[in-house]
Amino acid sequence: MALTGIKGFNDILPGEVRKWQHVEATARRVFETYGFAEIRVPVLEKTELFARSIGDATDIVEKEMYSFVDKGENAITLRPEGTAGVIRAFIEHKLHVVDSVAKLYYMGPMFRYERPQKGRYRQFHQIGVEVAGVSDPKVDAQVLTMLCHFFAEIGLTEPRLQINSLGCHDCRPEYRRKLRDFLRERLGSLCDDCKRRYETNPLRALDCKSAGCKEATVGAPSVLDNLCAGCDEHFARTKGYLDAAGTVYEINPRMVRGLDYYTRTTFELVTQQLGSQSAVAAGGRYDRLIEELGGPAYPGIGFALGVERVVLLLDDEGYGRRPDLFIAFHGESAGNETFRLMSRLQRLGVTVEIDYEGKSLKSQMRRADKFKARYTLIIGEDELSKGAAALKEMDTGTQSEVALDPERIAEVVRGGTILP
Ligand code: ATP
Ligand code: MG
Repeated sequence: MALTGIKGFNDILPGEVRKWQHVEATARRVFETYGFAEIRVPVLEKTELFARSIGDATDIVEKEMYSFVDKGENAITLRPEGTAGVIRAFIEHKLHVVDSVAKLYYMGPMFRYERPQKGRYRQFHQIGVEVAGVSDPKVDAQVLTMLCHFFAEIGLTEPRLQINSLGCHDCRPEYRRKLRDFLRERLGSLCDDCKRRYETNPLRALDCKSAGCKEATVGAPSVLDNLCAGCDEHFARTKGYLDAAGTVYEINPRMVRGLDYYTRTTFELVTQQLGSQSAVAAGGRYDRLIEELGGPAYPGIGFALGVERVVLLLDDEGYGRRPDLFIAFHGESAGNETFRLMSRLQRLGVTVEIDYEGKSLKSQMRRADKFKARYTLIIGEDELSKGAAALKEMDTGTQSEVALDPERIAEVVRGGTILP
């Protein structure tokens, strides 16, 4: 029996890859405009890093991690997200000494043991950014504006930005207590997961999809009414800067992120088009994480977008690949001349396809059609002796004779029109 890949791990085939390249190239271009630099960190880290940063009582750490013991008895984990590794590297290499503000971006595969379905896989890909060293809400607004700018650049207008504030280590414990008090009498209606995390993480019930949790949390105290003065002001200023930047947002006081390190500003970009896999990007502030991982007392903020979900939202149109030129030939010496021309043209940056299988002229032309080549050139004995051949522009049918000179052919193909 033929071997197959692992469930939840996808091959991304050449046709699809064009969309991925478009997403990645746009992210690089937009993020670099805002002064972000790329960082590349390993996919494997010590398990302890994720347990300490993401939090023991989160879905990710409780049940979704790919953790192993390696041959040296080390407990290691395939990264389920990007922030922990980037912050680990930031601390380890003392990047704050080089510059007091770090603006970093990354892209690559992440791994979570989840139930595979559309938009949810076991190996998936994120593009993310992190800013370390600034608590000023200007940076919250910049990061959000950049995220929305990226979506506009790839041609998607639908995902909506929702923001919330989760408070800080001063005001959240008090809010958590209030919410727990509120939920105490309604515990019976909560789903099993939310019942279990009632003590450790009661906020999760606020954005739980189960009907019981939805009903039980109607009228629950809002985190936004329970912020301390500092968090309240920070959120108000963030909104002010978003308005100033012209970035459109909605406030969702029920948004709770699934990672423990978030403080203050949290956000998601949500779509209606992917069923319950509605978040295409998500992130927030993590003002204590860097210090908790042994670094300087630096605040931070970041987001990650799910590349598979973004790609699912893109149309199929416009990603086709059209070679500039197809050269058909008959006869051995014409074949040699074709090869010589092709090699020179490719070095001049012209994309050229030919037949390698000694097919008839008719079937070579069928292949040129299949490739949707912009131009075709047919070379036979006559053309060889004349040193010129008919170059045809396929969309218009216009045809003219050109010298078998790579520079001249490249000029015509690039210019897009055949000059008489
Ligand atoms: P969800 O609520 O959909 O489980 P999440 O809160 O676990 O998302 P994050 O950890 O914030 O997601 O990751 C950021 C983004 O990465 C998500 O918004 C989503 O687009 C993408 N993502 C997360 N998990 C997966 C997965 N298993 N497969 C594909 N994409 C994913
Ligand atoms: Mg998840």
